[in-house]
Amino acid sequence: MGLFHSTRSSAPTLSSKEAIRRGIAADGGLFVSDELGARRIDIPTLPGKGYLELAREVMGILLPDFTADELAACVEEAYGGTFASDEVTPLVPLTRSPGADGTPAYVLELFGGPTSAFKDVALQMLPRLMARTGADGGSGERIMIVTATSGDTGKAALAGFAGAPGCGITVFYPEGKVSRVQELQMTTQEGSNVAVCGVRGNFDDAQSAVKRIFADEGLAERLRAQGVVLSSANSINVGRLVPQVVYYFAAYAQLLRAGAVEPGDEVEFCVPTGNFGDILAGYYAKRMGLPVSRLIVASDRNNVLCDFLDGGTYDRNRPFYTTSSPSMDILVSSNLERMLYYASDGDCDLVADLMAHLADEGAYKVPAELLARIREDFGCGWADEDQVAAAIRRCWDDNRYVIDPHTACGYHVLGELAPAPGTAARVLLSTASPYKFPRAVAGALGLFCPPDDFAAMKVLEKATGTRAPKQLATLEGRPVLHGDAVDVDGMAAYVEAAASRL
Ligand SMILES: *Cc1c(COP(=O)(O)O)cnc(C)c1O
Repeated sequence: MGLFHSTRSSAPTLSSKEAIRRGIAADGGLFVSDELGARRIDIPTLPGKGYLELAREVMGILLPDFTADELAACVEEAYGGTFASDEVTPLVPLTRSPGADGTPAYVLELFGGPTSAFKDVALQMLPRLMARTGADGGSGERIMIVTATSGDTGKAALAGFAGAPGCGITVFYPEGKVSRVQELQMTTQEGSNVAVCGVRGNFDDAQSAVKRIFADEGLAERLRAQGVVLSSANSINVGRLVPQVVYYFAAYAQLLRAGAVEPGDEVEFCVPTGNFGDILAGYYAKRMGLPVSRLIVASDRNNVLCDFLDGGTYDRNRPFYTTSSPSMDILVSSNLERMLYYASDGDCDLVADLMAHLADEGAYKVPAELLARIREDFGCGWADEDQVAAAIRRCWDDNRYVIDPHTACGYHVLGELAPAPGTAARVLLSTASPYKFPRAVAGALGLFCPPDDFAAMKVLEKATGTRAPKQLATLEGRPVLHGDAVDVDGMAAYVEAAASRL
């Protein structure tokens, strides 16, 4: 069932299993299917469905060549008991609307998984999907996952892929640019198939180098001779994107169950955004029938997406800021390419042309009518560091609810932007536990802030009456197992060495 092709060319087509196995198309584009929206979810049936059932249904539509049994097994392995709540992604009402308008607002907690970040939702699923893509009749081909992370992906990918049959994983992170908790989460990861390495550079340097590694024909040839193929766990992989579509429907199901909306009422989603994967999943949900009035991109000081949505020019030639929300410190939002594809009605030539401009000049401009269409679906806003701290404080004062700096960007933006017309409820996606960034959060709350993350967790627990997730609180005592660091130029050789150990 060949349905997937590159955003930059309509041929050749692949099955969803092949698309997941390869990660990225040979021409550098992202895999898309023109079937998106052909089959829709029946909204009035949502309240009767739990997360696992919804996951089977939504993923069955988007990954049509997986059998129902395969998907049921994947869903059970990924979500059956691995998240803190039975809802998997619970919806929490805020006492007070962040905006002046009074529209009811909710927080969708996406961070209940094993590494306390929203990326678990997708990365608990991806290895399970990947394990069922082997269409090669048992040739014994192994997959080496290569990922660059700005913080959270790394640990979530390691947790998903550690010990996964037929797979290895190499994670690169920008050395000194992730929090101590994030670094320890990665460098203490156990498993004989995992490699973790710091890179002397920022996230975009590392991400660009990973893209070059995937495009390196010579390297691919040498690895093939050893029976290894490279694949990606970054949010460009179809197998990362699809599981994220589920929680938009799960949020709506919970709103219906709570009587907060009637079937068909429109909801606005505000999404702390970096690589555009999370919010793109919301766009997919809308195209599959979810009543969404608008999707709001919330950025930190790296506001390249806001400038794009305001004026139609995407320009990565700008200062890069290191902020308290490192997973959103991104200048090239890779998944935007998929949105451009769909918003332009599948104009591969246009997308290829825009991406060539991005590669050559670091910038592109979309035609005015395309921008107008995009702006019908998307709003945007951003928060500087002072506004992030103020949002954490205000959310606590108004709701007695603690949020992390990524989520705080969204909280700030909800306060600034009036809801789109017709919005019955607003949902803020919460992407990380505040305990992943305890010093920033404690500081914002005006608490005495010890310089050490683990001491700060205790301060936060005491002052707010909340509990640090156990997997974070116990990190300090774990042995560091990975201490490698390389220059950007050394990353390819590092991958090759790791692959030879598979
Ligand atoms: C990855 C991440 C984001 C950004 O998500 P994208 O899908 O890259 O837009 C936001 N917040 C946190 C905590 C993250 O880990």
